[in-house]
Amino acid sequence: MKTLQDINFKDKKALIRVDFNVPLDENFKVTDATRIAAAKPTIDKILKDGGAVILMSHLGRPKGVDDKYSLKHIVDEVSEILGVPVKFVSDCVGEVAEKASADLKMGEVLLLENLRFHSEEEKGDEGFAKKLSILGDVYVNDAFGTAHRAHASTTIVAKFFPENKCFGSLLAQEIISIKKVLEDSEKPVLAVLGGSKVSSKITIIENILDKVDHLILGGGMSFTFVKALGGKVGDSICEDDKQELALEILKKAKEKGVQVHIPVDVIAADDFSNDAHTQICDIDKIPDGWQGLDAGPKSRELFHKVIMASKTILWNGPVGVFEMENFANGTIALGNSIAEATKNGSFSLVGGGDSVAAVKQFGFEDKVSYVSTGGGAMLESLEGKVLPGIEAILK
Ligand code: AMP
Repeated sequence: MKTLQDINFKDKKALIRVDFNVPLDENFKVTDATRIAAAKPTIDKILKDGGAVILMSHLGRPKGVDDKYSLKHIVDEVSEILGVPVKFVSDCVGEVAEKASADLKMGEVLLLENLRFHSEEEKGDEGFAKKLSILGDVYVNDAFGTAHRAHASTTIVAKFFPENKCFGSLLAQEIISIKKVLEDSEKPVLAVLGGSKVSSKITIIENILDKVDHLILGGGMSFTFVKALGGKVGDSICEDDKQELALEILKKAKEKGVQVHIPVDVIAADDFSNDAHTQICDIDKIPDGWQGLDAGPKSRELFHKVIMASKTILWNGPVGVFEMENFANGTIALGNSIAEATKNGSFSLVGGGDSVAAVKQFGFEDKVSYVSTGGGAMLESLEGKVLPGIEAILK
């Protein structure tokens, strides 16, 4: 795997695909600069080597040129985070971009206009990728968030740099972390899957059954399993048409020697509301009119035991409706257990959608080994897919 450390960037112009798709407020101020800060180590290394940096990214989903989605709005923020002046050019290809690149001196940083102002970007157009490629000497991909897309700047452009391409440090870290969980993992390996529906996690479950020793199935999706096993789940979220599938998963898990852990009790509510009345009940004896919205105390204890006995932990999806304060405690307890196991030396990776939001909301970010930045890209990796943006660098 070729990384930044394998290349000396002295006197080289690095064309870097970053993910600067950041949220902006109504005054076009960046409201969360995490993604910009995450690209800093890669940019710093290239500048330190004595190279120049050309940054390319998309922002939002513009249909053609649209000032609202111009990357000019983030120039000051990028400059402040990097601690160097950042030049901006009003197009990412063509004469103006080529001139801006030619004029760029070593040690300088140039930000190109939004890639998606050209429809060719998302189409993965080769001619457009070629136009991008002439701007730099080396191609660096540091955008994990778009690595599952075969777009011009994330994948196709790499073919014009057969010898001179590598992963940026952020993308390399993502790849190493996923490998640590799915391939080079220290046993026992545990996957905690939560969230609302079995149907959205089915491909992940099928892929990871070959890789894990323990599987915790929590949150909304657990009710489909409980009902399939003959339990009463009241008004809890449940996919009736997925019951057979649930039984099949349990059968496959057994065949593969995977121990599946389903919550044993829940905090049930008489309404899908933070102010609902609640009671603790066994997960297979939920009265009609009540729905399980969080893991109960016995379930939390069960999760804790399994987590503390695991050396590698993957966490995807909350085990309750964590957006409501009164049903967040199961997810918080789960996070605390994973944090404790991490402190004891286990490797923990949190990735994909809502669990990342939960981890940030409850302050577990620094207490787990790695929090993935790429929602869709992470999910596709867990599903066992080879991401085109990663493959393009490895080729
Ligand atoms: P997902 O996008 O599939 O990871 O699902 C995340 C969502 O699952 C969150 O918005 C949670 O509120 C929701 N969720 C977790 N547990 C439950 C539950 N017991 N009942 C309903 N929704 C749940």
